Amino acid sequence: MKEKILLHICCAPCATAVLENLRSDGYDVTGYFYNPSIHPWKEFKRRLDALKEWAPSVGLPVIYQDDYPLENNIRMLLGGENRCFTCFLDRMKKTSELASDQGIRLFTSTLSVSPYQNHELLVQAAEEASAQNETEFIYNDHRSSYLRSIKLSREAGVYRQPYCGCVFSERDRYLKIKSPGSL
Ligand code: SF4
Repeated sequence: MKEKILLHICCAPCATAVLENLRSDGYDVTGYFYNPSIHPWKEFKRRLDALKEWAPSVGLPVIYQDDYPLENNIRMLLGGENRCFTCFLDRMKKTSELASDQGIRLFTSTLSVSPYQNHELLVQAAEEASAQNETEFIYNDHRSSYLRSIKLSREAGVYRQPYCGCVFSERDRYLKIKSPGSL
């Protein structure tokens, strides 16, 4: 029997290639959309809807968390020393908790396909999250599949966003400032 894994999905484009890789590694994948940092709400909705449209086309079951706690999220991002670590930790904790609730031991994230994210920071956050319950973070470096994710998402007509997500990253793309979680 295939081992189940809960895949945190930051967006549909990143999910395309990661899903392909995980399935070819023999996993039974369930997706989880949880990205409260995406700003503004219209952009959040656009990424959410893109995933809702694409996931059924590849037979991917997805659990959607579509509430939008803006005030709490801004407070949270400003409260940590490194906002990207705080953002990773929040998403990995929620994914790990959901995996545990669903009886799924393994979890991972589509963030691991991005050449722009700091993978060491992501792994650190995920390991801290998994230490709180009986789950295990599976880290695979999917960066070599990044171009494939662009190709697959273009072929599927999936919306690709021009910035990471939060209001800070939306500003930083114009000012050419690197986020504290990017390489
Ligand atoms: S730049 Fe991306 S990872 Fe960093 S805080 Fe913003 S949304 Fe989160």
